[in-house]
Amino acid sequence: MSDFAQGVKQQADIVKVVEGYIRLRKAGAQNYSGLCPFHNEKTPSFNVNAARQFYYCFGCQASGDVFTFVVKIENVSFREAVRIVAQKCGIPLPKREFSSPEEAAEARLRAKLLELHETAAAWFEEQLQAPEGALAREYLGGRGLSPEGIKKFHIGYAPDSFHALEELLRRMADDATLRASGLFSAKEQGDGTPGPLYDRFRKRVMFPIANESGRVIAFTARTLETGEKAGPKYINSPETALYSKGQVLFNLDKAKSVIRQAGFALLVEGQMDCISVFLRGIQNVIATSGTAFTEQQVAILKRHTSNVVVNFDPDAAGSNAAEKSIALLTEEGFSIKIVTLDGGLDPDRYIRERGVEPYSQAVRGAKWQADYLIERARAAFPGGNADQKVKAMNFLLPHIRRIPEKLARDQFAADAAQKLGIDSAVLREELRQAALRRRDHVEVRTAGLTEVERVLLRALAIVDSEHEGTRRLAAQALLQQPAWFEQLGVFPALRALADRQARDPMDVVEDPAQRALLAKALLGETRPPEESEVASSVQQIQEQGIESRQRELRGLIAEAERRGDFAEVAVLSKQKMDLDRALRDLHRNNHQ
Ligand SMILES: [Zn+2]
Repeated sequence: MSDFAQGVKQQADIVKVVEGYIRLRKAGAQNYSGLCPFHNEKTPSFNVNAARQFYYCFGCQASGDVFTFVVKIENVSFREAVRIVAQKCGIPLPKREFSSPEEAAEARLRAKLLELHETAAAWFEEQLQAPEGALAREYLGGRGLSPEGIKKFHIGYAPDSFHALEELLRRMADDATLRASGLFSAKEQGDGTPGPLYDRFRKRVMFPIANESGRVIAFTARTLETGEKAGPKYINSPETALYSKGQVLFNLDKAKSVIRQAGFALLVEGQMDCISVFLRGIQNVIATSGTAFTEQQVAILKRHTSNVVVNFDPDAAGSNAAEKSIALLTEEGFSIKIVTLDGGLDPDRYIRERGVEPYSQAVRGAKWQADYLIERARAAFPGGNADQKVKAMNFLLPHIRRIPEKLARDQFAADAAQKLGIDSAVLREELRQAALRRRDHVEVRTAGLTEVERVLLRALAIVDSEHEGTRRLAAQALLQQPAWFEQLGVFPALRALADRQARDPMDVVEDPAQRALLAKALLGETRPPEESEVASSVQQIQEQGIESRQRELRGLIAEAERRGDFAEVAVLSKQKMDLDRALRDLHRNNHQ
């Protein structure tokens, strides 16, 4: 360890540094304890000793000093950790040396990109106050933002120019660095090389995105243009050396200490919602920015709290992103409450139209997730007949199965049975068993086909050569990855159809129930499915397949951790990382 690192270590207080990341409670004269950030646990086994300046986890045996803690939690090199700790303690940095040239280059790039973002943010703020920013100021005023609020969040304006920011930043950095900053775009030229740079953000209101230490690392930009020229309403910075979308929680830098005091985080979807709620004094608020939570984001949040109150837009309550976020939080053992605002308003409008006090009341009156879901099930499937009750049960089971603790699942099922008015002992037991075994539906077959099943059956039953390509697409997907399709109720029929060669579709499916389903799909159609429909159905199956395997692995990992079998944890984690990557690639291909 260098003299400098030695000096930093002597001056740093490990308790304070660790507290910057996780909640600690005093557990003895010199001891503090909390939930371990390095493994998943419910009861604290992570200990920090103030006298000897080390940490130790009885759960996963992680241990070390202030630097190894920062290395592990920030995923940085030792030298970078020394620098981070020094900064936290206000110790000035010496001229740095690095262990490898790559590391030095990487650190230089990141430092430069931070500088560029800081300069850009300040410049956008200036532009907002310039005459050209009038429209943007008017827009922000119309959304109820005061000049103080605008200042607090460093909101700015990118003028309608292709080169104004470029000219400014060119004085600070070379072309390669500017390209790496994400602040500019370039058109690909005829020979495939990237063309000259131009400003990515034009005529847009600029919302800076900060990392956990409050430094600007990216922007979200809202258009002021209307009509056909407008382009997307919001655009974001691309992924850069500084910024990875799935690893940032909007406003966490401002909210984290309040989240710890309040004992929960208020989760909203939009950045405007977040800003609006925060500025009116409810400061433990963070935003998902409209996309589904990633595991990294959940892990980051867990360092600060495991209680979440969710206030998503009412019209988006059933939306994929919102539901996936809630699903992931449930799987990771968060306690979740759900706010519903009357009048169908989003948080921003509600707080502006009704005021802070009614909004705080709504947050305090948030319902437990279980109660909220049961109510939704009752509303969606009203009436007292058994069929509706089975449908309501099947609506709930996918949610129940995500809850990690058996006891909580049992409780949820009992509650649901009572509130849904299920008095048949058979149905009650069916629901209870499904909950305990984490099944996602009860076995009372209510027949019918899903849209995906219908598309695949029709594609595989194509007989004319004109649509052969569409048939082959479905058949190949099924033959190459049969495991992904096994979860479908019509899998036996799909399987038989996929290698039917030239035989008639209705002949190759022998099971009568399966044949009935196939007939149902074919009788309802007027034309074969489009190739794009088939492609998106296959992709959906693939995603569901990967997601269900991920869930399974999460369960196995947690179990292996409880047993203390860390070799197994490592093997499983590796498998899970591969799946995470596969899913990301799938999404990327899909959205290009
Ligand atoms: Zn641990």
